[in-house]
This record gives sequence, structure tokens and C-alpha cells, in this order.
Amino acid sequence: MDIIPPVQRRVSAASAPSIHHDRQRVWKNWAKTVQCTPEYTFFARTADDLSQIVHFARETGRHLRAVATGHSWSAIVATDEILVDITALNRVALDLNDPAAPRVTMECGATVEEVNHVLEAAGYALPCNVVLESVRFGGLIATGSHGSGWNNHTLSDLVHAIEIIDASGTLRRFETGIDSEEVMNAARLHLGMFGLIYRMTLNVQPTWNVHAKDQRIPVQAALEHLPEWVQQNDNLDLFWWPLSSKFWVKSWTRTDAPVTARPRYSKVERARSHIEMLAYQQILELQRNVPRSTPLLSPVTFAFSPSKRDQVLPIVEAIHYRRGIEITRMGCIEVAFKVDPDFANVREAIAMCFDITNRYAAKREYPMNVTLNVRFIHNSTAWLSPAYGEGHTCYIEVLSRAKDAEWQRYSGELGREWLSLRGGMIHWAKEYAQVPGIVAHIKQNMGANIDRFNRIKAELGVDPDHRFVNKTLKPIFT
Ligand SMILES: Cc1cc2nc3c(=O)[nH]c(=O)nc-3n(C[C@H](O)[C@H](O)[C@H](O)COP(=O)(O)OP(=O)(O)OC[C@H]3O[C@@H](n4cnc5c(N)ncnc54)[C@H](O)[C@@H]3O)c2cc1C
Repeated sequence: MDIIPPVQRRVSAASAPSIHHDRQRVWKNWAKTVQCTPEYTFFARTADDLSQIVHFARETGRHLRAVATGHSWSAIVATDEILVDITALNRVALDLNDPAAPRVTMECGATVEEVNHVLEAAGYALPCNVVLESVRFGGLIATGSHGSGWNNHTLSDLVHAIEIIDASGTLRRFETGIDSEEVMNAARLHLGMFGLIYRMTLNVQPTWNVHAKDQRIPVQAALEHLPEWVQQNDNLDLFWWPLSSKFWVKSWTRTDAPVTARPRYSKVERARSHIEMLAYQQILELQRNVPRSTPLLSPVTFAFSPSKRDQVLPIVEAIHYRRGIEITRMGCIEVAFKVDPDFANVREAIAMCFDITNRYAAKREYPMNVTLNVRFIHNSTAWLSPAYGEGHTCYIEVLSRAKDAEWQRYSGELGREWLSLRGGMIHWAKEYAQVPGIVAHIKQNMGANIDRFNRIKAELGVDPDHRFVNKTLKPIFT
């Protein structure tokens, strides 16, 4: 766990603004991989609160970071100075003034679920999203989070406009068509380094239905057909449970057929998946404490997965197909790379995971006990996105509930191998500190875009003193 100790600092005596706050409150992320004790934790409710907090930080020479739901594994939230909880800023409004360009505006603390409610009620949807509905848009956009779909981009790429309180406490608006794409591509994914995001406006679409299939398919057959299946479907994900001979292949394509299920609105389905996740949690606990039970229990947890279904769903239901996944804390490492035309490097990345997992299993060690997930998107135009650049992108990740030391060793090894693939880049919100030489790797692989981002940021004067940069980002960006 990265623990940022509280520091004794000499600062000016400006008094804290009268916004609800705590002193020396311990903060931990969801995964409990990061902990810090900021001197001040402010609970902002308005844009003016955000501005006052930034003024206070400037007057007292402190640094600051925002926190949303804290679901990031890496230490990108952590600060020992000022933490700004933005979860009360959660208003959402749909803008249908221009029928050709429907948009939704959300404050930074709005959850995916809150935004989906507004969109669904009016018959609209975001074309892509993360699986979870509990996370907040400030965190999703700041980190360039992604969903799935061969022709989709990342959530940050949907940003039409973004409003940020910069280091002078001023509300700045960056908008497509008014600001250059050069600037927009820095503003729409800035890891919190432009300032405190107040609001974002994202492009949305009228909703549509998809034919969604979940199948268990032998590994060899799936790998053989992967390029055609990925390109024929709107969306195709692979999941592999350790030592299994099959993949769970999740796919969907647009259809005019009527909806056959709405699992998110079914009380029975919600209760069932909650109970399943609680049972799943117990099994994973057993695997964590008795790793040698993994070969026996992994087929059971695979059986628990919703990997055999054939339904017609509204797109929002297809995207958020798993409920209650936050119940069980686990580790996660994820890497993105550009897909070779024949998918050779995708097969290689999958083989790397199989090989390492099997090598450990031969020693009767099982640091990987949840799943390997492979997703495909198009790309991103944001300078700091791991999906930046021409060509389609594969995101490959492993989730596991192993003991910390074993997980760190295994995931460090796997991360190093994945990052050896041409153009391999980490997901900013996932775990990567355990990968040897990671800062040098990021600087080498993303150096030109980091320089570009830094230049745009300097020209805009949003944070000349790096007040929004924390200890994790400093070695990479300053
Ligand atoms: C179970 C699980 C499943 C996940 N699935 C996916 C997935 O499918 N795809 C994917 O890409 N990611 C996924 N993630 C990662 C997740 O999307 C990111 O960690 C995201 O940032 C989480 O949002 P949050 O609200 O928890 O943000 P936090 O972790 O609280 O914050 C993330 C970053 O955003 C910054 N930030 C937040 N709000 C603001 C603001 N108002 N102004 C400036 N900076 C701000 C924070 O300082 C921090 O640097 C998953 C995570 C979990 C735990």
C-alpha cells in the first residue's frame, strides 16, 4: 500500500474558508492500495466552494487534489495537503436544443447511475461507458476511462466542453469549436492537473437496442476467429478464468428487435446478482487464504459469471451488465496497445498471461484468481490517453484477490511483459507502481505527448506552480 505520511509544513496563517471540512482525516481508496492523511479535506457543494478552496490553497502555499468515488487503484488521488471531496456536486441536465447534437451536462460528482437515469428517461444514451455505475464523471474524465466497442472511443473523447477551476481560482471553460482541438485534447484528459473540474458536457445519442450474447467458447476457437468476430460485432470482450480451457465471449450488435430484458430494473435480478456477488466474495476469500484451492474453485467462480445468455437489451443495460462488482476488493493491472492488423500481438498478450499464470501454477502458486479481460476500442485523440494515435486499441487487464505480496510479484511481471508490446501503455487509474522502471517507461513511450500536454498547459496558464500535481504525477510531469 502506498502510504503518504502527513507532513509538518510551514504555511501562511490564512484561515480556512467556511466550507465543511475535516483536519487530518485518513483517506483510503476503494481497493485499499493507497492511503493518505491530508491536512484538510473539504467537502465542496458549489463551483464557488471549489474556487474558495483553490484560493485558500494558493494563499497558504498548499497543493490540492480532488477525490470522487476513490475507485482508482493508483495513487493519483493521494495528497497530504488539501483533498477536495466533490461527491455532492452531482447535478445533471440534458440539452436537446440542437436535435443534431444532443448533449448532457453533469457536475463532476455525478455518478454514472445518476447520468444514466436522466438519459434513459429521455430516450438517450452514452455510446460507451465503464461497467460500474457507482463511479463519478470527474474521476472518469480525469483519467480517460474507457468502455468497449471496436468503433468506440474513450469517455474523455465524448467531452464537448469542460469547465475547470484553475490555480488562480478562476472558472475556465474549454469548448469544442471555440478552443482548438490541440487545447481540447489536453483539457479532456488531464489527470486533475488543469485544476478542479466543475462541469462537463458530453455528446450523447438517441438510445438503441442490441442483441447481446454471452457464450463459453474453447480458447483456441475464440483466438482463431478473434479478428473477424471483433470486427463483425459492435462490441466483443473476452474473459478468462485461471486455468480454464474456455473464454467467456461477450458480444453485442445493434438490432431493431424489441427488448427482452431490463436486468437493471428487475428487483429479482438485482437481488440475485447481489447474492451471487456475496457468495463470490466468500469463495474469493477462500482462494486468497488458501491459494491452492484455486484450481478447484476457479471453475465455480467461472460458473457464477453471467457467461451464458442471449438477450435483446437497451444499450445502457448491455454496457452495465455486472452489478455489485464493487463488493469484492481486488487488485487490477491494465495495459493498452495498438492492435496488429492480424491480431498477432493480441494473441501474444493473452499468451503472456496464460504462460505466467501457468508457470506460477506449476509451482502451485495462484496469484491470479479472478479474471483476464480483453477489450477493444477504436482510439483516443487525448494527448495523455493510452489509446492515443491511429489504429484500434486493445485494453488487457487482470483482476485478482490474491495476497498483496504474491499479487505485486505476479502483476509486476505480467505488466512488464505487456508493456514490452510495441506502444504498450498503462491505464492511469489502475495499478502500475509494481512494474519495474515504470516511470522511465511512461516517459519514453509517451514522452512526446507529455511534452505537448505540458506546453499547452503552460500556455494556458492553468497551473503555473504545479499546485494540482501530487507525488505520483510529479516525476512524470514536472
Ligand atoms: C470495480 C472497478 C471497475 C472498473 N472498471 C473500469 C472500466 O471498465 N474502464 C475503465 O477505464 N476504468 C475502470 N475502472 C477504473 C475507474 O474508471 C477509474 O478509477 C475512475 O477514475 C474511477 O472514478 P472515481 O469516481 O472513483 O474517481 P477517483 O478514483 O476518485 O479519482 C480519479 C482521478 O480523478 C481525479 N478527479 C476526480 N474528480 C475530479 C475533479 N472534479 N477535478 C479534477 N480531478 C478530479 C482524482 O484526483 C483522481 O486523480 C474500474 C474501477 C473499479 C474499482
